[in-house]
Amino acid sequence: MENNPSISISNPHPSGVDIIQKTGLILFSVGLLLFLIASTGTGMKYPVLLLSLSIGLSVGGAFIYFFRKYLTKSAGVKNDQIWQNSLTSRGVFAWLFGIFLTGFYIVIYWFPSVLENLIRLMDPLSNLIRGNDSDQWFLYGTLYTLAIGVMGVKALLKYRHSNYQIIRTSSIIFFQLGFAYLIPAVLQLFNQPEFYFSYFWPLKYDYLFPSTVNYLTEQPGALGVFMVFWGAAMIFVATPILTYFYGKRWYCSWVCGCGGLANTAGDPFRQLSDKSLKAWKIERWMIYSVLVFIIITTSFLWINSYYNGSVFGNVSGPFANTYGFLIGAIFSGVIGVGFYPLMGTRVWCRFGCPMAAILGIQQRLFSRFRITTNGGQCISCGNCSTYCEMGIDVKAYAQKGQNIVRASCVGCGMCATVCPRGVLNLENGPLKGRVNDNPILIGNKEAKLNL
Ligand code: SF4
Ligand code: SF4
Repeated sequence: MENNPSISISNPHPSGVDIIQKTGLILFSVGLLLFLIASTGTGMKYPVLLLSLSIGLSVGGAFIYFFRKYLTKSAGVKNDQIWQNSLTSRGVFAWLFGIFLTGFYIVIYWFPSVLENLIRLMDPLSNLIRGNDSDQWFLYGTLYTLAIGVMGVKALLKYRHSNYQIIRTSSIIFFQLGFAYLIPAVLQLFNQPEFYFSYFWPLKYDYLFPSTVNYLTEQPGALGVFMVFWGAAMIFVATPILTYFYGKRWYCSWVCGCGGLANTAGDPFRQLSDKSLKAWKIERWMIYSVLVFIIITTSFLWINSYYNGSVFGNVSGPFANTYGFLIGAIFSGVIGVGFYPLMGTRVWCRFGCPMAAILGIQQRLFSRFRITTNGGQCISCGNCSTYCEMGIDVKAYAQKGQNIVRASCVGCGMCATVCPRGVLNLENGPLKGRVNDNPILIGNKEAKLNL
């Protein structure tokens, strides 16, 4: 405090980076540098050493930095200069980072040969856990899992005061590492189809396409049939049941890797989501259009398959290809992650994900989940709205004492975590009365607001 240049006693300037943090940053930079050197093909005679050093140093350095940074100050969001920092307020660095991320996705989807040396760098790890050489998707999956793991540890440290955030973040890391990385790899090691048990149609849109279903059911043994059964049972049976009990959060904030990346690596950008009514309208049009698109595509493919191509002829194939290109690659990948620094972290989840559309309809119509608000306690600080990654103006509900029952709410719980007055509570309860219109309490009186 003695070096605190701020006159504020509640929110002092963050202290400078100390020697331990600097050491972490240096190690992280060296690891990153080795990765860049490997991308030029240098040092590939020793791939195991290079891979171990680049991952070990960057992960170790990041951990040292985060542990030192977050354990030396109190837990929680600090509002510390997010609107002054160029990276977190759509400044020059945000644009540069956005261009870098977008470029990376374009390269990995359409020009993977540019990454050939990095793909080869992953060969030792790929051979160890999958039994074959790496490809661009193994490289991508490894980086993705590392991003969720490392930034997940940061989230655990930052939000360590909240049991909800600790359990939720641990769940995200568990499902990404186990279900979206190791299990599909080990399946390949045993000559089984690569299958992601934590992704279902329509998010993993081809899992109910006739070609995938036929491929899986024709596999020797019963595992392929089980995979088809699992995918169908999860979307048609388990999803409505779990959403009834817990809201869409059971998937969007606890299991899904897209939401997982948003809530860990994307955490510094969550305040950038557009809270305007216009954005809400666009969101509803877009997300349900994508859902209709994938339902039509899947139906066309099945009808065509049933009638041996005599009904839709060549139409269904291009439909599926168009969906794969526009939605599967450009929207969910290039825009969904590439635009984190400009439009916030849930661009895909909010505007494009057809799984979110289904979960949202169920959540709005028949879920026990709601966020209750105690309007009399709200001081209108706006923290909740600022940090809502789904662009919900939480404050407007809190001021009215109205429950939040919105299709888009992913139940990340951050609004409640950042609320200084404990106004918001994530709850499961009876369906009856969950959509309310409570008047705000002012002393012993009440006032109705028409927002
Ligand atoms: S909205 Fe879609 S992509 Fe986002 S977390 Fe939910 S299911 Fe996953
Ligand atoms: S309303 Fe709260 S729980 Fe729902 S998405 Fe926004 S911040 Fe997360």
